[in-house]
Amino acid sequence: MKALHFKPFQDVVQYHTTAKTRSRYADSAIALFELTPGKIRATVAGTRLYNVAIDYTDTKVVRLKCNCPYDQDGYCKHIVHVLVEADLYLLNKLKTRMIAAACCVSTDTSCSKTHRYHR
Ligand SMILES: [Zn+2]
Repeated sequence: MKALHFKPFQDVVQYHTTAKTRSRYADSAIALFELTPGKIRATVAGTRLYNVAIDYTDTKVVRLKCNCPYDQDGYCKHIVHVLVEADLYLLNKLKTRMIAAACCVSTDTSCSKTHRYHR
């Protein structure tokens, strides 16, 4: 799998999951995904539906939980899947924010978007 952009997520995937888990995360499907800053709640469909809860700060992941029966090394593939999804979500949000900021610090008066970067 590709490296994640958000370092705290990448650290978990790199140091706390096994190669086997990483190669299998896409076997499951994200059924529900909610992200508020610092908090992710997701439901992942594997053999059954599993609930994943992840809490994080800018520098590290502070809580990782999945209610599936996985008891081997590292975290389960559902957690890996949710981290991949969250990383993508954060990256897209960042891109959107950069585009918005760039258009509104320019002198382009044709910009009709209203967002908080307007001055
Ligand atoms: Zn799991």
